[in-house]
Amino acid sequence: MGTRITVELSHADAAIARQGVDAVMAEMRRIDNSMSPWIESSELARLNREAADHPVAVSEELFNLIKTSIEFSRLTGGAFDITFASVGFLYDYRKGVHPDALQRREATELINYRNLVLDDATHRISYSKPGVRIDLGGIAKGHAVDRCITLLQSLGIHQALVTAGGDSRMIGDRWGRPWSIGVRDPRNENKLVAVIPLEDVAVSTSGDYERYFEEDGIRYHHIINPESGDSARELRSVTIIGPDATTTDILSTSVFVLGLEKGLALVNRLPDIDAILVDRHGAMHYSEDLQPARKPESGARPAAAPVPD
Ligand code: AMP
Ligand code: MG
Repeated sequence: MGTRITVELSHADAAIARQGVDAVMAEMRRIDNSMSPWIESSELARLNREAADHPVAVSEELFNLIKTSIEFSRLTGGAFDITFASVGFLYDYRKGVHPDALQRREATELINYRNLVLDDATHRISYSKPGVRIDLGGIAKGHAVDRCITLLQSLGIHQALVTAGGDSRMIGDRWGRPWSIGVRDPRNENKLVAVIPLEDVAVSTSGDYERYFEEDGIRYHHIINPESGDSARELRSVTIIGPDATTTDILSTSVFVLGLEKGLALVNRLPDIDAILVDRHGAMHYSEDLQPARKPESGARPAAAPVPD
């Protein structure tokens, strides 16, 4: 998944605890092998190669994840759209490559979740136009975290935190105290702008500092506005708190695209969802039900990551 996986857990039986850690790592690898667009043998890579020519049968898991993606495309007015990859593949953040205006316009016309045709009965998927591509980078990590939590629960583990990059979910508390999740300063990786004590929830952060390069003072980063095919630039980071990591992962990416006003409006009308936004000037914004977090602490920590004692 091109990111750091961490798991922290407790169980009275050390062998079961060990089994839990191993199960998490194996599950992360399994999902990566199925959903990475970069692994040629993955189900997802095969879809992108063949689905414009003929319907392709996929696993129930992938089918349902694509279905969920489309439901959230509808909910977010198209801000979340896995067909963003139709233009997304023209960017290479490591090499500092972006499409020129014409390439971008042409490829952006292919972005539309309605170009995905799903057959519920057979789990077949086809693309209605050549050139359409999908990428699950905005949902797969959250899904993987949720799957891992379910596995841990089935092992009888009820105090755990699983993190994949910016997506975390915790069950129970951290040995009698809440888990601490830090939101980093989008422009200083050694500074936190908020620390939130949490139990039994998921939290995801999307930021414009994760994968990016700058050219002529413009930041090109990995969260793409499906309307323009260009990076979304109204916000620097979005942290979403909610019941499961699939939802918080999708919503952090979606709210990032929607921007301050529309993003907060969406969060405020969704039950059980809270948000912390850092706008493009560095100012913080909170959803209605969220108490401003306690004073930031210093120290180097990854985004929305567990804060050790
Ligand atoms: P996250 O770090 O969760 O915000 O996810 C960012 C990833 O989501 C990117 O690396 C892309 O793979 C994917 N992505 C970017 N823009 C969009 C979009 N508009 N809709 C859905 N997925 C996206
Ligand atoms: Mg996300």
